[in-house]
Amino acid sequence: MIAHVSKWVLPVSGAPIRDGAVVVQGDRIAAVAPAAEVLSGFTGLICDHGDGAILPGVVNCHVHLEFSGLAGRVAPQARWKDWLEATLTAYGALSPKEIEAGIACAIEALWQSGAVLVGEVTNTGSSWPFLTAGPLSYHLFYECLGFDLVETFDLPAVFPFFGRPEVEGTAWISAAAHAPYSVSAALFRAVAAWNAARSGLQTVHLAESQAEIDFLARGNGFFEGLLQRRGRWVPNFQSPGLSPPAYLDSLEFLGPRTLTVHGTRLTAADCDLLAGTKTWLVLCPRANRYTGAGAPPVPELLRAGVKLALGTDSLAGNWDLNLFGEMLWLHQNFPAYPGDLWLRLGTLNGARALGRAREFGSLTPGKQAALGFIPLTGSADFWGELFAAGAAGKWRWLG
Ligand SMILES: [Zn+2]
Repeated sequence: MIAHVSKWVLPVSGAPIRDGAVVVQGDRIAAVAPAAEVLSGFTGLICDHGDGAILPGVVNCHVHLEFSGLAGRVAPQARWKDWLEATLTAYGALSPKEIEAGIACAIEALWQSGAVLVGEVTNTGSSWPFLTAGPLSYHLFYECLGFDLVETFDLPAVFPFFGRPEVEGTAWISAAAHAPYSVSAALFRAVAAWNAARSGLQTVHLAESQAEIDFLARGNGFFEGLLQRRGRWVPNFQSPGLSPPAYLDSLEFLGPRTLTVHGTRLTAADCDLLAGTKTWLVLCPRANRYTGAGAPPVPELLRAGVKLALGTDSLAGNWDLNLFGEMLWLHQNFPAYPGDLWLRLGTLNGARALGRAREFGSLTPGKQAALGFIPLTGSADFWGELFAAGAAGKWRWLG
C-alpha cells in the first residue's frame, strides 16, 4: 500500500480535495480522501509530492498514429481543403519505415504527456502491434473509406482486416467510417452491422468543413472533384439534401456508442440532434485551428447538452498530441465556463465515450491506479496553470 499526498487531489468524479491523498494497492486505487483522514493509522509508504495536483491519466479519444511521421511536414493552413490536399500528398511520400518510427515516437509522447487510454483511428492496422506492445490502453478503430461501394455487402468481403481471426478475437477493435463525403450509405450500414455484433463502438469525422455541408446539401463542389481524381466518384450520386448529422441519423448511425469527431460546422439544430440521440462529439479544437477547420460551437453544444470528449487528431494536423493543450485552449477561449469542465471532458467523459469508465477516467476506488502529478506554484488561475503545466510536459506518472 502506498499513499500519494499532495496539495490538491483532483478526483474528477468529485470536487477537488485540498491536502488530499490517494491510496494505491497493487494496480488499483484503494482510497481517495483528505490526507488527514487517510493517514491516521496508515502503515504503508507515504509519498508527499508537495505543491501541485494528483489527477487521473487523460483519455485522448481521437488520434491517427500512422500520420505521426508527418510531424512538421504539413504546415498549418487557413483553408481546410488546402490542409487535406497537402496531407494526402505528404502522406503518399512517407516510407513504411518513417510511418513506423512516427507511430513509436507518438505512443511514447502520448504516454509521457499523461495519456492512459487512446481512441486510435487506423487505415492500415499498422499501429496495432505498436499499441499492443506499448504502455497505452486503446480502442482501435479501423477506418473504412469507399464512396463508390454502393451495393449492400458484408465488411470482411471488402476489408480483409475484419476477416483476420486475431481481429475477431479482440474486444478493443471496431470499424469506423471516415466521413459522410467518403463513405457510401451501404458502407455506413456495413460498418454499423459489424460493430453492432460486437462492442457497438464506432466513430466518424463529422461536419468538419463547409465543403462537407455543401456536398451533402447539393452534391457537387470540392468533394466531387476530389472523388473523381481518386477514382471513387459515383456519377448518379444523389445528395441527401441533409446536414451531416441529419444524414447519419437517416442511416441510423448516430447513438450512444457513436463518437462523432470535430463538429466545427454544426448548427443549433444539429447540436439538438446529437444530444437527442445521445451521440458523443469528440472536440479537437487545436487541430481544427491547425487545419483551418474553424472552431467548434462550444456554447451551443453545452446549451444543447451534447456529450463531449476530447482528442488531438494527428500530427499532420496538430502541433503535438498532448491533450492538456486542448484543455488549455478551451479554458482560454471559453473563460466563462469552470475549468474543471475541460478536465472532465479529457478524462471521465473520454473513458465513458470509449466504454472504459470502469477502469479509467477518475480517481475512484476500484479503478486502475493510472494517476499522475503536475507541479503547481499556486497561481490565481488554478485551472489555467494546471493545463499550461500539463501542456508544457510537466506530467509525472505515479506508481
Ligand atoms: Zn481525424
